[in-house]
Amino acid sequence: MLNIVKKTALEIGCEFYENELMSNRTSFKTGGPAELLVCPGNIDALIAVLKVCKENKIRTFIIGNGSNILVSDNGLSGVVVMLSSNFSEIKLLDEETVYCQSGASMTKLCRFALEHSLSGLEFAFGIPGTAGGAAYMNAGAYGGEMKDVLVKCEHIDEDLNVSSFSGDDLKLGYRKSVYSDLNFVITSLTLKLKKGDYAEIKKKMDENLSKRREKQPLEYPSAGSTFKRPEGYFAGALIQECGLKGACVGGAQVSEKHAGFIINKNNASTSDILKLIELVRDAVYKNTGVLLETEVKYFE
Ligand SMILES: Cc1cc2nc3c(=O)[nH]c(=O)nc-3n(C[C@H](O)[C@H](O)[C@H](O)COP(=O)(O)OP(=O)(O)OC[C@H]3O[C@@H](n4cnc5c(N)ncnc54)[C@H](O)[C@@H]3O)c2cc1C
Repeated sequence: MLNIVKKTALEIGCEFYENELMSNRTSFKTGGPAELLVCPGNIDALIAVLKVCKENKIRTFIIGNGSNILVSDNGLSGVVVMLSSNFSEIKLLDEETVYCQSGASMTKLCRFALEHSLSGLEFAFGIPGTAGGAAYMNAGAYGGEMKDVLVKCEHIDEDLNVSSFSGDDLKLGYRKSVYSDLNFVITSLTLKLKKGDYAEIKKKMDENLSKRREKQPLEYPSAGSTFKRPEGYFAGALIQECGLKGACVGGAQVSEKHAGFIINKNNASTSDILKLIELVRDAVYKNTGVLLETEVKYFE
């Protein structure tokens, strides 16, 4: 069945990989093979791939840079559509408005804002992943979130129409957006920033990056904070209170540097990470009555 997708990909010159190990495509560095992984370079290629999959009832998985996902060790049957560097144009629409394709990395987007002395994305400097992933997740850090700057997203809906959501229709909440409940593909973002002072913006970005380097176990593969912040608490503090810093299952470990991060310490499998997530959730619930919810998305 996938031959038909390969044929389309070949015809339109779309990069694709067969039996691609998802451990090569996720920041956790775990996950079995995707039957087919395609990297469309433009909207037409993206629509052509989605169309052939829809017509042939082939399951699709949309990913950005894989920095917030955990993929089953058994891999993924169907087509993974990866929207990263191939799909990454960034441009100014007017003095303070930036357009960005969803595959652009947040680092590139933040650097673009800095180069144009535009303030508003300082919080995001250092968040791994793509702009599309950040919009989907309403990524946030250090008191800022995408909600503060995102005014519009263009997408392809389930009927393959190109359309958009703006303003409140984006339903941006804590690590979620309108897209969390839809099977749409975000293709571009429009962001409203503010003219600022280059040196001040740079200083804030550098400070935020330093804080990350100091506090987070960036030397190990992970997907950032494993759990959402429960209202009124910090997941890391609850996990630490339960004495779980350093707890291991197989090669997965609750980071000793930051208990909110589960890391791939030593060739962990996804199954190790899932078991450790359950162990942590159970212990925190038993000890504190707080039920932790994962921020990381599981693909199987
Ligand atoms: C070291 C580290 C630090 C991190 N720090 C932070 C932080 O400070 N704040 C924070 O919020 N997150 C953080 N994260 C998590 C992660 O970087 C963000 O959630 C990021 O926005 C995910 O982007 P991505 O492109 O990698 O998305 P992916 O992980 O590829 O996908 C995440 C979800 O978005 C969906 N998706 C992605 N792109 C699209 C698209 N174009 N259309 C439709 N759906 C799409 C996927 O289906 C999936 O459900 C961190 C991760 C790491 C590894």
